[in-house]
Amino acid sequence: MRPKGLPIYLCAMFNQRTKIKTLLDGEANNQEVTVMGWVRTFRNNQFIALNDGSTNTNLQVVAELGSFDDEFLKRVTTSAALKVRGILVPSLGKGQKMELKATAIEILGDSDPEKYPLQPKKHSLEFLREIAHLRFRTNTFGSVFRVRHALAYAIHKFYNERGFLYIHTPIITGSDAEGAGEMFRVSTLPFDNPPRNEDGSINYKEDFFGRNTNLTVSGQLEGELAATAFGEIYTFGPTFRAENSNTSRHLAEFWMIEPEMAFYDIEDNMNLAESFIKYLIAYVMEHNREDLEFLAQRQADEEKQLPQDKRSDMGLIEKLEFVLKNDFERITYTEAIDILLQSPAYKKKKFQYDVSWGIDMQSEHERYLVEKHFKKPVIVRNYPKHIKAFYMRQNDDGKTVAAMDILAPGIGEIVGGSQREERMDKLVERMKEMHIPTDELWWYLDTRRFGTVPHSGFGLGFERMVQFVTGMGNIRDVIPFPRTPKTAEF
Ligand code: ATP
Ligand code: MN
Repeated sequence: MRPKGLPIYLCAMFNQRTKIKTLLDGEANNQEVTVMGWVRTFRNNQFIALNDGSTNTNLQVVAELGSFDDEFLKRVTTSAALKVRGILVPSLGKGQKMELKATAIEILGDSDPEKYPLQPKKHSLEFLREIAHLRFRTNTFGSVFRVRHALAYAIHKFYNERGFLYIHTPIITGSDAEGAGEMFRVSTLPFDNPPRNEDGSINYKEDFFGRNTNLTVSGQLEGELAATAFGEIYTFGPTFRAENSNTSRHLAEFWMIEPEMAFYDIEDNMNLAESFIKYLIAYVMEHNREDLEFLAQRQADEEKQLPQDKRSDMGLIEKLEFVLKNDFERITYTEAIDILLQSPAYKKKKFQYDVSWGIDMQSEHERYLVEKHFKKPVIVRNYPKHIKAFYMRQNDDGKTVAAMDILAPGIGEIVGGSQREERMDKLVERMKEMHIPTDELWWYLDTRRFGTVPHSGFGLGFERMVQFVTGMGNIRDVIPFPRTPKTAEF
């Protein structure tokens, strides 16, 4: 019960706690506070490094000698959960500006040090992936996921400030026509004995939705429907691709931001994408400085083990500042191919895959352009139409489409987008050429039937953006529970 007149937060048992970051950002004035968190280390039977996930910096809790029972202190082990009440005082010791002189310590949850797999030492990222349920409790993943959160927030902020509507597109989709990647089937039919048609094929009319359904690979087509009513919209949701790519940049389940804008041509599209990326970087630079500094140091330490030519030219923060300050390079696909053909790498046969006009550039080509040639993000536009999707607007040359990809140092493709084909006849012609069933996409084609307008959009892979900002080399380390071929633990 709440005594009359007392604000609710003074009565709650748990919410009277102060977060460690809030304490560390302020001053120690001998005020009494309560903190809760998990023990990182306990030394000299006196000093507890407590962490509550609000920052990587632990709060030093001092359990003065003689004030606490020895048997009790034995339970203060790494990862035990504590509630500590105490007086916040300036610290005399080196390494921290304040410490909490404990007056009361309560153990909320014990942790058996013999069994707890995380020791206060450096673990490899590979090992931590195997205990992804606990890796949140490390400094590296603390920083990564706080930055990931900040980016997600900044994405909504960016679009909200510009009047874009957040649209939720379906996760289960009836259209498998887009061809952006291999799809995961969604079905409730029995695997071992599905109902069949007379010709032996599976009878999806008996399935849950009465048709064949899949997990979405992109919300774009539905996004276009909304954009042709609201003008500017975006989606931000999970997408699924059953592509068997075991790379450091591909997940089977990843999050994508897909803005779609009526009355935008390809130039407007590129301008939006560039300012979007810069806005996200600026946001994190301003709000997550401490985490970025930690991640920058982590990357620098990791690169010390690499040969000189494999190390980054710039530190993480330097790189982000550089990207903020400079315009992205903008070139056409044809120019990109010419640069590759003229490159020393090509002449010395350093590329594994051949280069000629018409190829779908491989990661090694994209990385050459951004990392070796331009040394900054590059927007490539006007790709050959035969390597791009049916909905991209055909250019007058008859060979290329108004597509644009943004390539980022260390990552490769981070954004894929285009101006969409708004001309019904051209769109239908292209669909027929590519064997896309026009009858199944009748609803999509209606946008071109009823008040069609020039419009554009793109998809930013959220995890690739998190990789770029955090400097993490493997995409499995920027999503809490990665799904990749042969792994779906947790
Ligand atoms: P890639 O050539 O790298 O496989 P894509 O051409 O298949 O990419 P799009 O279909 O254009 O990519 O998707 C838009 C964006 O989504 C990409 O620019 C990328 O940032 C991201 N993305 C695509 N596939 C994946 C994946 N499997 N895992 C994580 N992000 C992805
Ligand atoms: Mn792909």
